[in-house]
Amino acid sequence: MKAIAVTPAAKQINVINQAEPNLSSPTDVKLRMIEAGVCGTDREICAFEYGTPPVGMEHLVIGHESLGEVVEIGAKVTRVKVGDLVVPMVRRPCPHDHCTACRSSRQDFCFTGDFTERGIKEQHGFMAQFIVDDEKYMNPVPADMRDVAVLVEPLTIAEKGLAQVWNIQQRLPWGCPIVPGRAQAHCHKAVVLGAGPVGLLGAMALVNADFDTYVYAREPAPNPKAAVLELIGAKYLSAQTHSLEAFAADVGNIDLVYEATGASRLAFDMIQHLGINGIFIFTGVPGRKAPVQVDTDLMMRNLVLKNQVVFGTVNAGRETFEASIRDLQIFKNSWPQAVKSLITGRFPVEAHRDLLVGKSAGIKNVIQLN
Ligand SMILES: [Zn+2]
Ligand SMILES: [Zn+2]
Repeated sequence: MKAIAVTPAAKQINVINQAEPNLSSPTDVKLRMIEAGVCGTDREICAFEYGTPPVGMEHLVIGHESLGEVVEIGAKVTRVKVGDLVVPMVRRPCPHDHCTACRSSRQDFCFTGDFTERGIKEQHGFMAQFIVDDEKYMNPVPADMRDVAVLVEPLTIAEKGLAQVWNIQQRLPWGCPIVPGRAQAHCHKAVVLGAGPVGLLGAMALVNADFDTYVYAREPAPNPKAAVLELIGAKYLSAQTHSLEAFAADVGNIDLVYEATGASRLAFDMIQHLGINGIFIFTGVPGRKAPVQVDTDLMMRNLVLKNQVVFGTVNAGRETFEASIRDLQIFKNSWPQAVKSLITGRFPVEAHRDLLVGKSAGIKNVIQLN
């Protein structure tokens, strides 16, 4: 079968031929992969910034945002059946008995760092024609979501972040008054930094919870990302026309910031505009550049005097994948055109190089695997 792999030692990216994987346990499931999304992580792996092949191997099959169809199941499989559409999870637990997170199937909070990740760290990924894995990592998806289900994995970032927001904000009376026809966050204002796929999916999750949602990004409007946001009822403001100060003044008391750029300078400038009782979610992973100056006195004063919380979030457990599948279906029903236009194009395996190392273009590019 064909697979897209990097060989970091030789700095190569290739379509390789390797043997189809086979079931090796009664709870294994074999998937025929339909497609895989390309994201910044894949592009960083293809720039050889990280990405670790399985122990004893030179190459790593990449890909972690995916959709597959079940073609074979072990004798003891109960969660899926042949013909089901499935989005597999990415992270696999570490082996240590003392890791309470991994031992309770919450490897997204692994304490030891010895977890593996398919397509990223020591396990082959999903840009292959077939994969095999245990059923516990498989999330079934309704058949009518086939055209958008490749977005389930990138949506888990926002879903896990927001689930934590609701948990953390129980520290205070943060709930909005109940208003018929409005969802739970209708009295709050949220800011999204960045309008890439993670930012746009985050904006959809925030609007869906009824946050008054503002997105701040580089490109001037009109552009395809601003058009998506208009369709869902979020406001788009460009850094070209609004300074951060002007933007923050426009919004008012900022209850929540969802950072989705990986640009640390912008994020730390934004923290200074977080409102009273506000919460700030970091999702980006910046490259290491030169240190920048921040006004630590102001930040610390605000954190204390405004009762603020700042947290980071990575990866997702099964509950988050299930929430993501549920919400993506809601988004698809509420905003069919907006969700559809998140996927810029579907491309054959042969086009992988342009998508993985060429200039990043469009919103979400998808590679068709079968
Ligand atoms: Zn990704
Ligand atoms: Zn662990």
